[in-house]
Amino acid sequence: MLSLAFAAWSAVVSLPPPAPWDGKSRQLIAKPDDRWITIAEKTSFHATSTYDQTVIWLRQLAAVVPEVRLVSLGRSPEGRDIWMVIVSRDRLFTPETLQRSARPSLLVQAGIHAGEIDGKDAGLMFLRELTVNGRWRSLLDRANFMFVPIFNVDGHEHASPYGRINQRGPDVTGWRTNAQNLNLNRDYTKADTDEVRAMIAALDRWHPDLYMDIHVTDGADYQYDITFGWNAGVHSPQSARWLDVTLAPAVRGALRSMGHIPGPLISEDPANGLTVVTLPPRFSTGYGDLRHIPSILVETHSLKPYEQRVLATLVLIQSAFQTLGVEGVGLKRAAMVDTESRPNPVPLEWRIPSASAVVEMLDFLAIESHTLPSTISGAPRVEYTGKPVTKHLAVYRQNEVSVSVPRARAYWIPAAWNEIADRLKIHGISVDRISEARDVNVDMYRLDDPKFDAEPFEGHTRVVAKPRIERRTERFPAGSFRVSTEQPLGDLVAVLLEPSSADSLLQWGFFHSIFQRTEYAEAYVTEAMAEQMLAADPALKSEFEQRLATDEGFRASAAQRLDFFYSRTPFADPRWRLYPIARER
Ligand SMILES: [Zn+2]
Repeated sequence: MLSLAFAAWSAVVSLPPPAPWDGKSRQLIAKPDDRWITIAEKTSFHATSTYDQTVIWLRQLAAVVPEVRLVSLGRSPEGRDIWMVIVSRDRLFTPETLQRSARPSLLVQAGIHAGEIDGKDAGLMFLRELTVNGRWRSLLDRANFMFVPIFNVDGHEHASPYGRINQRGPDVTGWRTNAQNLNLNRDYTKADTDEVRAMIAALDRWHPDLYMDIHVTDGADYQYDITFGWNAGVHSPQSARWLDVTLAPAVRGALRSMGHIPGPLISEDPANGLTVVTLPPRFSTGYGDLRHIPSILVETHSLKPYEQRVLATLVLIQSAFQTLGVEGVGLKRAAMVDTESRPNPVPLEWRIPSASAVVEMLDFLAIESHTLPSTISGAPRVEYTGKPVTKHLAVYRQNEVSVSVPRARAYWIPAAWNEIADRLKIHGISVDRISEARDVNVDMYRLDDPKFDAEPFEGHTRVVAKPRIERRTERFPAGSFRVSTEQPLGDLVAVLLEPSSADSLLQWGFFHSIFQRTEYAEAYVTEAMAEQMLAADPALKSEFEQRLATDEGFRASAAQRLDFFYSRTPFADPRWRLYPIARER
């Protein structure tokens, strides 16, 4: 590494210029003599509080406000508590009492990517105005507030000036991944990390009516200072409709009235226009949608100054909380309908429909850019000028189902694969265990043509294969598991267990041992056996000769030629590449 001091390195990084901004939301910043001023406010948004400073501030608040309680959701790999703050007018501080509350509940989660910490500082300011300073205290008459200020607690303490090269402040930030270098926002389905297991348990027990995950972007420059969105019409279409029709206009209106520039959650591809992706359930927002908890993804824009981003986040939290309080009955009803629906087939993957189907256009508030040749990369280099321009662009939505499966009544997990049953239980899925062996009529998958990734991803070597259905009567020993899809998390069961789902435990690599061949025949045994097989079966002989004539690789491989015969004998393993999870017929 070049030995430049930090001052020099920070001078080397030149970000595209921000537009001047003086929004009305600045009025929400605490006065210097306010006892509850946050570190961010006190330092003119240069700094953000450490884990310890944050916890001390919260403990002090809970000590003077009886409507505030801190609960630990669990511990991180480095032993830090993941704190959740509950604010409830009626002091409902257990999952049971809070769930029974007539008032809807909002759960806001900050710092899943710990360098993107806007949600923590906005949430602390919101807590203050909801309680001690009282600006928004009346909102507690209508809704309960739950807040995880720092989700990736270990990443948050892995802090330096070098965590977020594309981001304009704070000066020192945490790190994207946890202490095991795992990205918590890719872990919601496989659920490897202590942190995500703690959050899934919290979602299952506290069951918020609205779940919000707060980030900062990387990527293109544009005018919007905050963008937000959700999976539309995927696993929870009624809730998505409420978010579209009721929440979005209210939040956009509040942000504009406070001087912010809200935009849609979109990625810009200069060649193809704008894309709205469907987030898979390894992400918080896709996972919430899949388990029918209405879920919002918030992304402030990394090139806007920290102050502007935190204030935009604060206004967004406040207006979402207010809207939930007033209109939450409609959302509860929508989520109930989604939870009770049993789609058949079950959708597993989405794609953008063919171009002819695109009719939607958007006036996108962009920043002017041009491309120059680059001697560094050899490719065109994009430069943003800082000048606002409006572009009329086509919008492509990833809303067409590309992979789906008929809804199975239930899945069967053999006793030996109890680890898979344990993963399902982490999600709160109910799993039945049989005490005596049973013969069950099932469909099972033979997995052809497996392809393993060359590089690990999130600690796993992923695999895809071509599933081929086999009808079988299968004996499941005592201790095996039956998982019904006739439960609120039935769609999640299919997503985790169907091999054609990208978030299946199979594709995440939990079943690699079934791809191994563990018994084999010596060549001197197969040779003699093959001669007899050819003599006895003219059809087999012509198939063999045909294969030799047409398949170069086969002809050149002694092993493949011998295996041609061995695999046709009862000595070959009949369960090779047979996926052990079965669909009940
Ligand atoms: Zn992020």
